[in-house]
Amino acid sequence: MKKYDLVVVGMGPSSIFLAYELIKLNKHKNILLIDQGKRVENRICPISKTGKCLNCKPKCNITCGFSGAGAFSDGKLNSYHLTHREKGEDIYLGGNDGSYIREYYTNKEIEEILTYTDNIYLKFGADTKLFGVDYIDEILKIKKRAKKENINLISYPIRHLGTEKAHILYGKIEKYLIDNNVNMMFETEVTDIIVKDNKVCGVEVKDLNTGKESIINTDKVVLGVGRKGARFLSDLCKKHNIETKIGSVDIGIRYELSNDVMKDINKYMYEGKFIARPYPYGDKVRTFCQNPSGFVSSEVYDNGLTLVNGHSYKDKKSENTNLAILVSHHFSTPFDKPIEYGEDIATNVNRLGGNAIMVQRLGDIFRGKRTWAKDLKNNKVKPTLKSAVPGDITFSIGYRTMTDILQFIKSMDKVVEGFANPENLLYAPEIKFYSNVVVLNKNFETSVKGLYSIGDGGGLTTGLMMASASGIMMARILDKKIK
Ligand SMILES: Cc1cc2nc3c(=O)[nH]c(=O)nc-3n(C[C@H](O)[C@H](O)[C@H](O)COP(=O)(O)OP(=O)(O)OC[C@H]3O[C@@H](n4cnc5c(N)ncnc54)[C@H](O)[C@@H]3O)c2cc1C
Repeated sequence: MKKYDLVVVGMGPSSIFLAYELIKLNKHKNILLIDQGKRVENRICPISKTGKCLNCKPKCNITCGFSGAGAFSDGKLNSYHLTHREKGEDIYLGGNDGSYIREYYTNKEIEEILTYTDNIYLKFGADTKLFGVDYIDEILKIKKRAKKENINLISYPIRHLGTEKAHILYGKIEKYLIDNNVNMMFETEVTDIIVKDNKVCGVEVKDLNTGKESIINTDKVVLGVGRKGARFLSDLCKKHNIETKIGSVDIGIRYELSNDVMKDINKYMYEGKFIARPYPYGDKVRTFCQNPSGFVSSEVYDNGLTLVNGHSYKDKKSENTNLAILVSHHFSTPFDKPIEYGEDIATNVNRLGGNAIMVQRLGDIFRGKRTWAKDLKNNKVKPTLKSAVPGDITFSIGYRTMTDILQFIKSMDKVVEGFANPENLLYAPEIKFYSNVVVLNKNFETSVKGLYSIGDGGGLTTGLMMASASGIMMARILDKKIK
C-alpha cells in the first residue's frame, strides 16, 4: 500500500503555508493534506440568504475546508514593521504571547519569518496598506490614558484582507498547491492516528460522503486542526498518552457599538488590543478581533453549538464596530476539563436563545432586565447579526465572568468615551476553545515520535499570521527529515 512522506491533518492557514514552503523546498511530491470540509470555492455560508444557520453538511462552511477558519475571517494579519520596532514596541505574537515560539526562536529569527510570511500574503494579493504605523504618537497617548485605568494597550501593525478578499487570496493559494500537484483529500475526516511503540505510523480516515473508512500509511503526521479540532485533539492526546498541560478556555461576549465611539482606535490602529485584570478576581480580560464597520456572525461547531464571531468586508460597510471581550479561564486540579466547561456555558446560552445567538443591551444588564425585540427596534445601535435573539445572557454566563466583563467595560469607558453606552450590544456565547496545550519540543514534535502539532489547535498560535508562520517553520524543520 502507498506510503506518504507526510500526512497533514487540516487545511487551515498553518497547513497550507506548510505545503507552500515544502513546494519551495521541493519536498512536496509525496505529501497528503486532508480536511473534513470543502475546497475554498465550494465553501458558501447560506446565512446571508436564509437569515439563519442551516447547519451545513458534512461540516460548517465557515470553519472547515481549504484555508480553515481563515476563509471567512476578517483577515487581519498582525505584521512586523521596523518603524514600529524603532518606537520601542515589541513584536506581537498573539493572544498567549507566543511564549512557545519565543522560547525557541530569537527576535531576529521571528522578524525574518514574519516578514517572509507577510511577503507570501502580499504575493497572493494582500493589500499593501499597513494600519498602526502612521499614528504612533496618537497611539502612545491612548496607551498612557489606558495605563491610568490599569489597562494595557498593545499596538502592532495590521494588514487587513477583508472577508471577501481573504476568500479570493486563499483561492489563489489553493490553485498554487493544485498546480504543483500537492495531494489533497476533501470532505474526509481523520478519525484517529495509528501509534506503535510510541511512533506514529498512519492515520485512520472516513469519507464523509460515503462513510467508507480506510487507513493511510506514513511515519510523519502534522496536526493543524485549529480550534475546530480542539476536542478531536484533546481526545487524541488522552487516547495515545500524548503529553499535554492543562489548557484554558476564553469565555466572553461579542460587543457591538457605533463606529463614532471607536473612530480614533479604528483610524489609528484598525484594531486595539486592550488587556486588563479587573477587580476583584484579577482574571485576564482582553479585547480580541476588532472589526471596524463590521458585521457580527455566527458559526456552528460539531456538537451543534452555535458561537458568535465577527468580521468585516473590504468594500461592504456597516455603521458599527464589533470586537470580542474575552475572559481567560484557567483551572487547576482536580478539574482539567476547560473544553467541557466552555461547552456547558455555550449549551445553556444556546438553549435560552432557541439555538440562536443571544443579544442584550448593556443598559438592560445594568437595569437587571432582559432585552425585548421592541427595545432593539428603537435602539441606536442596530444589531448587524439579524438572526440574533434578544434575551438575557446573564442567566447563563457565570457571575465571575460577567463581573469581569462589566468591570472591564466600565474602565474602558474612561479610555474610549462611549464604550459603556447603555445602547451598546452584547452577543453570546463567544468562546475560544483550545485543546489542552500539547507539549512540543523545539521541532514542534509531540511526545509521540513523528507526530507534530502546529497552528491554533494545540495552543501554539492564536491567529492567522502566526498560524501561517508556524507552517513555514514546520516546513523548514521537515526539510531535513523528508528525503
Ligand atoms: C469569523 C472569524 C474571524 C477571524 N478573524 C481573524 C482575524 O481577523 N485575524 C486573525 O489573526 N485571526 C482571525 N480568526 C482566527 C483565524 O482564522 C485562525 O487563527 C486561523 O485560521 C488558525 O489556523 P489553523 O491552521 O491553526 O486552523 P484552522 O484555520 O482552524 O483550520 C483547521 C482545519 O482543520 C480541519 N480539521 C480539524 N479537525 C479535523 C479532522 N479530524 N479531520 C480533518 N480535518 C480536520 C478543519 O476542518 C479546518 O479546516 C478568525 C476566525 C473566524 C472564525
